Amino acid sequence: MQENYDVIIVGSGPSGAMTARMLVESGLKVLIIEKKRLPRYKICSGIIFRKSQDITDKYFGEIPKSAYVKPELLQGVRMWDCKGGYRDMPFSKGGIGAPNVWRSEFDHWLVRGSGAGVRDLLTLVDFDVKGDTVSLTCRDMRKKVEVCFSAKYLVSAEGGKSMIRAKLDPEFESGLRWFVAYQNYYEGDSDLDPNFYHGFLDPQFGDVYAWFSVKDGLQIFGTALKRGGMIAPYLLKYTEFLQDKFGLKLKQMVRKSGCVGNNMCPEGKFYLGKGNVLLVGEAGGFLNAFGEGISCALTSGLCAGEAIIKAFDSGGNALSLYTNLTKHERRVTEVSWRLGAKMAGRDLMPL
Ligand SMILES: Cc1cc2nc3c(=O)[nH]c(=O)nc-3n(C[C@H](O)[C@H](O)[C@H](O)COP(=O)(O)OP(=O)(O)OC[C@H]3O[C@@H](n4cnc5c(N)ncnc54)[C@H](O)[C@@H]3O)c2cc1C
Repeated sequence: MQENYDVIIVGSGPSGAMTARMLVESGLKVLIIEKKRLPRYKICSGIIFRKSQDITDKYFGEIPKSAYVKPELLQGVRMWDCKGGYRDMPFSKGGIGAPNVWRSEFDHWLVRGSGAGVRDLLTLVDFDVKGDTVSLTCRDMRKKVEVCFSAKYLVSAEGGKSMIRAKLDPEFESGLRWFVAYQNYYEGDSDLDPNFYHGFLDPQFGDVYAWFSVKDGLQIFGTALKRGGMIAPYLLKYTEFLQDKFGLKLKQMVRKSGCVGNNMCPEGKFYLGKGNVLLVGEAGGFLNAFGEGISCALTSGLCAGEAIIKAFDSGGNALSLYTNLTKHERRVTEVSWRLGAKMAGRDLMPL
């Protein structure tokens, strides 16, 4: 039998959880579906910037201790130039620092706090919009069966690679350019200050920038490159550089992971939705310079929630409400890329 909801949200990251939190509070029947098993791993540096903290404090409460890693609070970003000089950008003037978390725990806390129904190991494989109803076909990975749902609104919170966006607008999708990010996790040691998140703006390590941070003693470092390029030689060069200059010592590899991103936000190409389908977070193009994306994922989720509630209450158009509500956040993210490019002395994502 097909289950019916007011809103179905695809993706259990911060944008999905935030959208759900708003909608549940107003009494709507909401389901979040997530293709991975929860709590799911997410490639990320897991730094919760001030704006993200303010939003989560207000709507979800204090970040639980279980989400924190050591060091619990990072003091700032230490951005290194090609000559070995650096500039510190503190996370907070009061010296409190930014929470350093595992995204698996942080995101799981958010999604549970949203109050929505949550189904993991359920992948959206297709959807169809007829009038004001969206029909969804999902694959239940536990039972290996197809499950169908229907809803008045569908929200894509799928992250940068969105099958919903691709189906809604194949032409927009085919115009996107992509980059690949890759990150290694090693047991080991180094001379780099673990209380900072380190960025290296040297183009010999990648097309965007290379990064390094410490979580629970793990040495985590990675880089990003235009899709199609060979990332291994860049990562090797970067690893050797960290070993030579900062005494990086690698023992056991614990994890290696990668993901793709696109040029939506750096170029102001947001895709907010079509009809009764809205896109939030990275699926909609919300990502700040240097890859900070939790704050705009949360903000766009807030806006989508508010827009859908208003549309239910007053019969207005949710997409045009959402478009208006995200005007400021879209501007903020666009400006962040311009400022990032200025700081780096080059286009940060030359895709
Ligand atoms: C290396 C790296 C480091 C980063 N570091 C930081 C940082 O320190 N701080 C910060 O603020 N941001 C950081 N970011 C950015 C941040 O991780 C993202 O911008 C943020 O997670 C986007 O949130 P979201 O809710 O849009 O999507 P996501 O968090 O990506 O969640 C999308 C979810 O949708 C699910 N999904 C996708 N398709 C389907 C489907 N068809 N059916 C069911 N489920 C589906 C996925 O499994 C996933 O769980 C980093 C990104 C990278 C790559």
